[in-house]
Amino acid sequence: MYDTIIIGAGPAGMTAALYAARSNLKVALIEGGLPGGQMNNTSDIENYPGYANISGPELAEKMFEPLENLGVEHLYGFVKNIESHGDVKKVITDDQEFETRTVIVATGSKHRLLGVPGEEELNSRGVSYCAVCDGAFFRDQDLLVVGGGDSAVEEAIFLTQFAKSVTIVHRRDELRAQKVLQDRAFANDKIKFIWDSVVKEIKGENRVESVMIENVKTHQVTEHAFGGVFIYVGLDPVSEFTKDLQIQDESGWIMTDTHMKTAVDGIFAVGDVRQKDLRQITTAVGDGAIAGQEAYKFITEHS
Ligand SMILES: Cc1cc2nc3c(=O)[nH]c(=O)nc-3n(C[C@H](O)[C@H](O)[C@H](O)COP(=O)(O)OP(=O)(O)OC[C@H]3O[C@@H](n4cnc5c(N)ncnc54)[C@H](O)[C@@H]3O)c2cc1C
Repeated sequence: MYDTIIIGAGPAGMTAALYAARSNLKVALIEGGLPGGQMNNTSDIENYPGYANISGPELAEKMFEPLENLGVEHLYGFVKNIESHGDVKKVITDDQEFETRTVIVATGSKHRLLGVPGEEELNSRGVSYCAVCDGAFFRDQDLLVVGGGDSAVEEAIFLTQFAKSVTIVHRRDELRAQKVLQDRAFANDKIKFIWDSVVKEIKGENRVESVMIENVKTHQVTEHAFGGVFIYVGLDPVSEFTKDLQIQDESGWIMTDTHMKTAVDGIFAVGDVRQKDLRQITTAVGDGAIAGQEAYKFITEHS
């Protein structure tokens, strides 16, 4: 029986593990992939206090390293379900079942699909959602980045070190990204913009060759040659496995109070998976710290 099981080893889950373990709880951290979460897909992090610039994988490693010495058990697996039986919760993966007194859900979010013809068929054949993972395969090519938020602009700038040109297509006539990123993108000779426009179709025989783009004001559709398309059009929560607990809003984000408590006693949620305004590493670690501490309080109050 664990005191707390944390599901997901992104910045939120790793910080929750740090705080729970330092309160002497018996902690397991279950992760289905590489510890670090979305940080593993991020080139440069420039807004994490203490570092002017650090790569995502490096920050992930720095967060993960101390956990082992604190006695956090790192278990590999994808959680399929959580059952709440009063004071005992069951966390169920593909092939195992664990018992715990509290659960902290830290499973983050996943990129949203554009949902246009060609996207699925050409996925990994020119269509990508991760500039850090795939950028280097697109040396000297003309690339399209879809989106206008922080991730889109940040990763477009990153891609300019490999690409011949990077075009950002955005459905509005201005970017949503932070001002500092916008200024950097506007000053970069390799970055071009197509405003007020959306992707209608991605075309190519075996690889991406061109993209059909519609101007939402004139409805004119034009074909543009691109060797790759990087898509950053928003996020959806990774929370399907919590459905039976009825702790989600209508879009699937998990609802909590300021103590990170969900509607089910002893179950907490932290980081990107939570209904919140700002999904960043700093806010994820803040949530994690609170939940780690709250799990400790919950256990002392219920024993
Ligand atoms: C391209 C990009 C660039 C970004 N740049 C920045 C930046 O510069 N600065 C910044 O502050 N933020 C940035 N962000 C946002 C930041 O990465 C996220 O806000 C942060 O990682 C959220 O942390 P998290 O721990 O909540 O979730 P995640 O980092 O998403 O971690 C969730 C973890 O849970 C695991 N998981 C999911 N489902 C299960 C399951 N069923 N069972 C077991 N494990 C599971 C996943 O494998 C993953 O490791 C960026 C995001 C992207 C995509």
